[in-house]
Amino acid sequence: MPRKFDQIADRMNLLDASGIRKVFDLAASMKDPINLSIGQPDFDVPAPIRQEAIDAITRGENKYTLTQGTAALREAIAAKCREEFGWSETDDRGYLVTSGVSGALLLAIQTMVNPGDEVLFADPYFVMYSHLVNIAGGKPVMFDTYDDFRPDLQKLSDSINDKTRMLLLNSPANPTGYVYTEQELRDIADIARKHELLVVSDEIYNLFCYDTPFASIASFYENTLLLRGFSKSYAMTGWRMGWCSGPAAIIEKMTMLQQYTFVCAPSMAQAGAVTALDTDMSAQVAAYKNKRDMVFAALGETFGLVKPGGAFYAFVPAPGGDATAFVTKAIENNVLIIPGNVFSTQDTHFRISYAASDDRLGAGLEILNRIAADF
Ligand code: PMP
Repeated sequence: MPRKFDQIADRMNLLDASGIRKVFDLAASMKDPINLSIGQPDFDVPAPIRQEAIDAITRGENKYTLTQGTAALREAIAAKCREEFGWSETDDRGYLVTSGVSGALLLAIQTMVNPGDEVLFADPYFVMYSHLVNIAGGKPVMFDTYDDFRPDLQKLSDSINDKTRMLLLNSPANPTGYVYTEQELRDIADIARKHELLVVSDEIYNLFCYDTPFASIASFYENTLLLRGFSKSYAMTGWRMGWCSGPAAIIEKMTMLQQYTFVCAPSMAQAGAVTALDTDMSAQVAAYKNKRDMVFAALGETFGLVKPGGAFYAFVPAPGGDATAFVTKAIENNVLIIPGNVFSTQDTHFRISYAASDDRLGAGLEILNRIAADF
């Protein structure tokens, strides 16, 4: 019997996964691929963090926590912020523990974007941004950062108009590995201040910064919603842990929305996260810097790759300029990478994740160079 209503809401038409689906369809036939497509570390969660989560379960910390997060974790996060940003306890800032940075992004965009509002971010971008803005009824607006992924302040300014509600920054960036300099962030803060824009700063890769000390716009601009996570820094992708801090009035509304959606972040993961904040990850970061150097040494000259300064990605110009064609060839040769059109309005580059063992990464880089030679 024909149904009166289509069962799927119209807003779902705003989501499109065709780019990545094509890659995964192609990849389905691969046997033991060299997988350079994954956005998560190849190391495991450090043992003390794992142990603390296990202990929390054993202690019976298996119930809902406060919506905003446990007092212990929120205090540990606030202490980190006082240390890093010089914020004081009396500042009018709130803290919210979220289900991953994804959770924080969803809450932030739903809390602040009205239908028709424009949200500005760099192209290339993390895929989730455009989808979350679209399902909120907002309009993603991008400023082009090709070919070196440096933010062009003129282009950024020119993209701002009366409807611009939010500027979404991501440094170190996915998919480019670009790290914004302190000066760029100060300049962007000036632009945001002039237009009274809220800046949402996605700093999920903050630990993975290889050449210069990491700088956050939260140090220079008070109207920043700061987003940090545990997925990448501590390899806790499956634990679904993140946090945000920002103007108290915004955090209060986001907390209310969390109460009616996620309820709270996972209890045992919050216990582990307290230990994570005290865990030194410099050995893992050094290993990733070495992988970044391997990628640049192998592809820098042959592919014309701009050296990425952070995260664990390289966004590489595709030989011949057609990323999907090159990725198809790479997949035929057992290397899984992702074409640029998944992260961008153009399809001229491909993304490598170098979060893989040195052996697998080395083998993959060799194959990419070989196929590029006859492309
Ligand atoms: N922001 C960026 C830039 C990311 O790359 C990711 C994960 N790929 C996320 C946010 C979300 O991470 P999570 O929800 O696991 O914290």
